[in-house]
Amino acid sequence: MATGKEIADTLHDMVDREMTFMHICGTHEAAIARTGLRSLLPEQLKIVMGPGCPVCITPQGEIDAALDLVDKDCIIATYGDLLRVPGTRGSLESCGGDVRVVQGVHKAVEIAQKTDREVVFISVGFETTAPTVAATILTKPPKNFSILSCHRIVPPAMKWLLDQGEAKLHGFMLPGHVCTVMGYEEYEAFPVPQVVAGFEAEDILLGLLMLVKQVKEGTHRVDNAYPRAVSREGNVKAKKLMYEVFEPSDVEWRGFPVIPGSGLRLKKEFEQYDAQKKFGIVFKHVSKHTACICDRVLRGLATPSDCKLFGKICSPRTPVGPCMVSHEGACKIWHMYQAKK
Ligand code: SF4
Repeated sequence: MATGKEIADTLHDMVDREMTFMHICGTHEAAIARTGLRSLLPEQLKIVMGPGCPVCITPQGEIDAALDLVDKDCIIATYGDLLRVPGTRGSLESCGGDVRVVQGVHKAVEIAQKTDREVVFISVGFETTAPTVAATILTKPPKNFSILSCHRIVPPAMKWLLDQGEAKLHGFMLPGHVCTVMGYEEYEAFPVPQVVAGFEAEDILLGLLMLVKQVKEGTHRVDNAYPRAVSREGNVKAKKLMYEVFEPSDVEWRGFPVIPGSGLRLKKEFEQYDAQKKFGIVFKHVSKHTACICDRVLRGLATPSDCKLFGKICSPRTPVGPCMVSHEGACKIWHMYQAKK
């Protein structure tokens, strides 16, 4: 395999026009920022982050719904990343309720097995986490356990971005972790260059090279630069599990309107585990009232350093928006690695 320097040199030779590609994965952004990979690229070649952080794209209305569950005296089990995301009236960390950080849904079930109180797992994540949650639901957890499903699936958001055309994208670097589960067959419908890429700097550079080649050839397909982990059909068993328990739903993403078929809700036969139904919780749209531009960062229209609050009022200690809270958020990553455009 060519070295990163050799691939970067080839990119400099090949890129002869403006090209902007979007990746949709916090792990890609962390690898790019940590290695300073953007500084190796030709000036006309840009890689921007899209809606690839599941905590960041969870809209404020869903944080507020989790806070509503605290008011109903539920024990909230959540990933640590979600704790400090601001809702309309504070965060899960500051709300004073019984909020417990867990590493996964199985730990939330263990809490429910040891108490008579209601336990709600705030179930965020893309197609990477949904199959595990589905498998847990199929084990018939105790009656005092439920989930607040905040899951999102990636392709509908990509379709929305392409339909809007506002980020002027020439192609996508597909999320390697999501494709490990889902494969990449469903992405073949999109009429733009795409590549599945791994997470080493060389993987990302190779992915960019494959994208640039497609642009220059005037063609589009899905190339796989991560065959050691991803196949076209993905993990068939995990996909089957996911759709046995969940069905697509129309949901809002932070920074996006309601995107048809982009969420996952529990099917009717599992509704006893659906916290929204169990407690009459409704996801409400909340309008933005701060100068935070997470919405634009998540749509690939701005970088963290475009935000006037970045590194000043907003830092990992004092986050204003979710992109500064989550370890997969662009603002936290840029802050941590002092990244630049
Ligand atoms: Fe939002 Fe803070 Fe990022 Fe600005 S720096 S976009 S306020 S999270």
